[in-house]
Amino acid sequence: MICITCMRPVDSLYTVYSNDHIQLTDCPFCQEIVDKYVEIDNVLLFIDLLLLKSGAYRHLVFNSLELHLSKYPKGKELNGCQSLHDYTLALIFNVRNWFCKFDRLNRLWLLLLSFEIYLTWVTEESKFIYYSNRSNNDGKFIMLSKNLPETFKWDSTIMRSTITSKVFTWNPPMQYLYFASYCILDVILFHTLIRYFILERLHWGRDFVYSKDIISYTILLSYGAKIFPILMLIWPYDTLISMSIIKWVANFYVIESLKIVTKLSYWNIIKIFIIVSVFRYCLVKPILIFFVAEFDFSIIKNLIQQEFMLLLQKSGTYLLL
Ligand SMILES: [Zn+2]
Repeated sequence: MICITCMRPVDSLYTVYSNDHIQLTDCPFCQEIVDKYVEIDNVLLFIDLLLLKSGAYRHLVFNSLELHLSKYPKGKELNGCQSLHDYTLALIFNVRNWFCKFDRLNRLWLLLLSFEIYLTWVTEESKFIYYSNRSNNDGKFIMLSKNLPETFKWDSTIMRSTITSKVFTWNPPMQYLYFASYCILDVILFHTLIRYFILERLHWGRDFVYSKDIISYTILLSYGAKIFPILMLIWPYDTLISMSIIKWVANFYVIESLKIVTKLSYWNIIKIFIIVSVFRYCLVKPILIFFVAEFDFSIIKNLIQQEFMLLLQKSGTYLLL
């Protein structure tokens, strides 16, 4: 457990007296209340999370998480098992324990992912319609389009031979399956790489027992900002520009929450974020192209070439979309 103001370890968050009176502990280092969120209800906590209050994040990812995880036993060592029977029993115990331990968090991930899949589907569809019908002079952020080489100028036929256009010829359940694989792969990569860079490269969290879970929970909480556009589907603001602004806001939430929790410098976190984004961009779509093209290398080559041309054209005329 830590003090949410100075982040130094403390023994307890509050003391319970015999008449059920609770007194919050004061921090011996900074003299502030160790964790005032113990008494604050979930609605206010949620609002403080949206406002990126450091105390709210630290209360949830350090104190609340540790309290929850400490109720469950540690996983059994698989290396020490003598027979296959012992190994299977230990494995079943570990899997069951994991599901009980992370039940609440897994449900939250499932909810966020289902929103994300739907939103990606909607955005990709509107992008596809927009780019397919776009002419060279459309758009508000046209850059030097008269002096650009031909490959950078907008050609709407390119959009009709990309992976997205192929996917939109499929039936809706198959389209859903494609976008579900896209989002799941993207989240797994993002989550694993951020955790790897912060824990293994920057060596953060050596003093915390649950450092892996702390980073995972922080990503989960900040990832919530990604589902803001769901409100824009209820009210008619679902233009591509507002969608991309929200995407940047969500990225800002991830960077700021990682900064609050780890106290690493902004430069380090932004550097990790850029590296991870490049990895995601270069890996997720190419992996899916392999499956969509059914491992036919001439189709794979053609699709990757079209994606690259599309990227050149987007960077030539539009910066935001
Ligand atoms: Zn303190």
